[in-house]
Amino acid sequence: MSEDLWKSRYLELEREQDDARRRWEQAEALLRRLAARLCLAARGLGAELDAVLDRIQDLLRGPLQEGDLEQALGALSEALARTETPAVQRARDDASLRIEDDLRGALDDLLGGLELDPGLQPRVAELRGLLQQARGLEDAVGFCAQLSDLIAAQRERSRLAQADLQRVLQQVDSRLSEFLGYLKGEAAEREAASASRRELDERMRGEVRDLTASVQQAQDLEALRSQVAQRLEAMDAHLRAFRLRESARAEAYRERAERMRSRVEQLEAETRRLRESLAREQVNATTDPLTGIPNRLAYEQRVALEYRRWKRFGRPLCLVVWDIDRFKAINDEHGHQAGDVVIREVAQRLARQVRATDFVARTGGEEFVMLLVDTAPDAAMAVVEKLRARIAERSIQAAAAPLQVTVSAGLAEFRGEEDPDAVFARADAALYRAKRAGRNRVERG
Ligand code: GH3
Ligand code: MG
Ligand code: MG
Repeated sequence: MSEDLWKSRYLELEREQDDARRRWEQAEALLRRLAARLCLAARGLGAELDAVLDRIQDLLRGPLQEGDLEQALGALSEALARTETPAVQRARDDASLRIEDDLRGALDDLLGGLELDPGLQPRVAELRGLLQQARGLEDAVGFCAQLSDLIAAQRERSRLAQADLQRVLQQVDSRLSEFLGYLKGEAAEREAASASRRELDERMRGEVRDLTASVQQAQDLEALRSQVAQRLEAMDAHLRAFRLRESARAEAYRERAERMRSRVEQLEAETRRLRESLAREQVNATTDPLTGIPNRLAYEQRVALEYRRWKRFGRPLCLVVWDIDRFKAINDEHGHQAGDVVIREVAQRLARQVRATDFVARTGGEEFVMLLVDTAPDAAMAVVEKLRARIAERSIQAAAAPLQVTVSAGLAEFRGEEDPDAVFARADAALYRAKRAGRNRVERG
């Protein structure tokens, strides 16, 4: 190899190394600037992290000693692990918001599922508003306390209603035993009256017997006349005594009968009141106070009845589950009162259109169940379709502007060995399909 060639190779190598060093230097300067900016950006998340960042920035300003940066990086990792970054915070907030939403939904369902006296309904509306505004667990705890008060109030009302019923029953019971006592007294009285008549009868017979004997034994007319007069006097006295006894008895009887008549009248009035209050209780217990249509309890009673009829007579029977579409949005945008108006109007439209033998109940917040009696699935589909269209085509005046409300439904016929719960589940699954397919539609299960 010539010396020139060797020299040019050396120079080339030296140039390459210079280039490489420059590139490394540029890269290092760039990295230092980048690290310094990152340190600035990460500042303010916590005192410990800020102290580590300060140290790293100091290091970055001077020449780096071996191991310095590594140590600082270790400290940085530890400080970071102990610091909540905004991302961590956001994830935690998201999770707690999700929990709050779930909790709110569960509490709302609980509130909607309570069977309460109409008098307590305003409290439900109040609590619903409270729940809507509740933020965080503390509010939820406060809400639960109020819910528990509401349940206690309902329990107290039920207890009072029961005590009232008990009182009326006791009154009826005591009236009945009084009545029984009167009847017993009546029998004893009749016995006493007939004994008194027997006594009169015997006495009179005795007098007549004595009179006959005196007539037979009489020696002269004068003695006979005096005997007869004596006997007649005695008979008259017996009769007077008897009449006195009888009129006293009649008087006592009239008094007792009068007393009894007024007792029986009271008893009748109380029984009527009891019957009416029981009927009212029955209506209250099976009527949804918001819409005035039957409630879940009524549905359960009715479906059990229709199921027995269906088993016995085998006539077709269909069950439809209805649910208002995007109802949450109506509540959120227009308020709960508007939501309630919508529920009421949908209930009316559903209830008005079905036959008298059919049945519709509000079984949950914005859910309804319908029983179409003696109706085959195709005919039932036609009815349900018509109802769905009726609700969609005429808006509801519930807020400042008329609201366009739609409903979805799932229909299932009773078949095979399925019990009402199984048929309901099939209809509910069909409803779910209707929702997934875009809502405002009916699906068959
Ligand atoms: P989808 O179309 O899927 O049925 O949506 P949605 O919003 O209707 O369904 P979701 O079941 O999530 O919402 C029902 C809401 O109804 C939740 C609850 O706040 C509200 N709600 C339940 N009961 C009542 C009530 O008595 N009155 C009012 N105003 N709102 C109620
Ligand atoms: Mg619903
Ligand atoms: Mg709904």
